Amino acid sequence: MGDTAKGTAERTLNYPEPVRRQLQIYAIDPMVARLSGSETVTISVPYEPLQPGPAGELLQVIDFDASADCYYEPVDLEDRRILLTDGLPPSERDPRFHQQMVYAVVSALLENFERGLGRRLRWRGDKRLRAFPHAFRGPNARFDPDNDGSILFGYFRADRRDPGRNLPGQNVFTCLSHDIIVHEATHALVHRLRERYKDPTNLDVYAFHEGFADVVALFQHFTLPDLLARHIQQNRTDLTARSPLVELAEQFGEGSGSGRALRSAMGAAPDPMALARTFEPHGRGSIMVAAVFDAFFSVYQRSIADLLRIATSGTGVLPEGALHPDLVARVAAEARATAQRMLTLCIRSFQFLPPVDVTMGAFLRSAVTADRNLYPADESGLRGALVEAFRRRGIYPDDITSLSEEALLWPEVSGRALPPIPGDVVDYVVQETAAGLQESRGVLEDAPGARRRETKADLDRRRRANAEAAAQLSAYARKNAGALGLDPDLKIRVEGFNASFLSGSRGRVRVEVVIRLVQSAPEELHEKFGPRLGGVPLRGGCTVVADGTGEVRYVVSRAVPCAAGRGPLAEAGQARLAATLGFVDAVTGHDAFGPWADPKERVTSTLNFARIDGGW
Ligand SMILES: [Zn+2]
Repeated sequence: MGDTAKGTAERTLNYPEPVRRQLQIYAIDPMVARLSGSETVTISVPYEPLQPGPAGELLQVIDFDASADCYYEPVDLEDRRILLTDGLPPSERDPRFHQQMVYAVVSALLENFERGLGRRLRWRGDKRLRAFPHAFRGPNARFDPDNDGSILFGYFRADRRDPGRNLPGQNVFTCLSHDIIVHEATHALVHRLRERYKDPTNLDVYAFHEGFADVVALFQHFTLPDLLARHIQQNRTDLTARSPLVELAEQFGEGSGSGRALRSAMGAAPDPMALARTFEPHGRGSIMVAAVFDAFFSVYQRSIADLLRIATSGTGVLPEGALHPDLVARVAAEARATAQRMLTLCIRSFQFLPPVDVTMGAFLRSAVTADRNLYPADESGLRGALVEAFRRRGIYPDDITSLSEEALLWPEVSGRALPPIPGDVVDYVVQETAAGLQESRGVLEDAPGARRRETKADLDRRRRANAEAAAQLSAYARKNAGALGLDPDLKIRVEGFNASFLSGSRGRVRVEVVIRLVQSAPEELHEKFGPRLGGVPLRGGCTVVADGTGEVRYVVSRAVPCAAGRGPLAEAGQARLAATLGFVDAVTGHDAFGPWADPKERVTSTLNFARIDGGW
């Protein structure tokens, strides 16, 4: 008998680890799912062993309801009864399904980010991303930058008089909206990649946060099976026709009494003056969203032109009646591929974005530079379309002379302006990244492997090695402060460093080492302008991009604000101080609550994510 038991155990151990996990979710949200007649879609996410919650390696779902002061029973996705059915079936009433949907949608998002960034994200233990599906009662959801970027979902009763296509007074759960989940989780990811973007230092910082979160939420629609094919069939390949595919959070928008989707991929007709009069972050961000989608639509249109010619024998006029399913499938494949390319391009901008004080112009420059390094020829026309769409909306970087691609690229560091990054550090980060990618091959290929469990000894070793690398980088930065656009007299903080393996056209693989350095303006400056700044910090810094040998290729910097001095660096610092003060003065005048707030936090207590994410 003992032999039999032993034999069973061995056989169990010999099963290969699964690669993917299938999970059911609502297509977009319960209302859209109901109206479209297909309640459920099943999505595939990378497999990892899970604790009840679900709690995995990067993400932990915690179902504590602060309004009701209780925990809901956590779902156990390893239970064989629900493993057999691809998770629990969609249910508005079962909180365990809500937990599953949050886990599934955020996991798909994390995979997209890892693929775009060319590396594994490494958050372990208490550094994991935390999501609370029923955090509070209220028609809202938000991420909390002061709490490691936790994401909090509210729930509320639909408007009694104007519930849209919801039942009056029915419960609407923001954690069941695909778009709200992706939007909030993207905020949290942006926060982890660039934590200083929580400081409103210019009009674009929050607009970028909001716009980027919407861009990612919309592009992730194109990965949902069926939704895309149905849209293409119904609208005869026109992706700009209104439908859940290109609208954000329809149920939330209608349930909260606004009568429509909250936001959409399509803005009004491009108006180069709109930017100058739009200050509210969501509104300003939606101009960026419209620009990115405009570019996507035009590239998509070009990519299916040949298919349409074949399907119409060259007339371009599609026959009456339903489209041939083969045509729909091919067109959908083009749309999906173009959407994935555009999403990846947007995510890759993070290789170059400055550590503080982002602008939409800096986003454009970073996206163009990142893409050009991998696809020098722009064969798909993605970059050209993006630049044109931004131009039509008046989104220009403020520091370039023309909108040619050459002018938009961040300038390359010339010759020997900077010595290479210390070899030990480069070897260490490149090896760590390579090891991480081998654990899950999915970042470079479409067949991700299982995630390896990490022991405490592994973690301790990495922590020590990280501290050592940071110390070396800090010494490097001090020695080369001037050439890095930093102030040699101020403390330099190494905010983060990593390597990426990026693949581009013709099998091109590029290794990039990215380092973020940040400085705080001198104390005297904070003292002098503190009352006027109302909590907005004065910081500068740079993102250093080196190749796999440590050779520095790019330095994208924002000068640390300063009040005096000569030379290009001091002048850039003075310009930044003036710009920050000008921005703060402008928003102070606009906020009715300003005068009542604690003067030390006059601006940051009214302009922060808890307040502005009212429209999430
Ligand atoms: Zn938001």
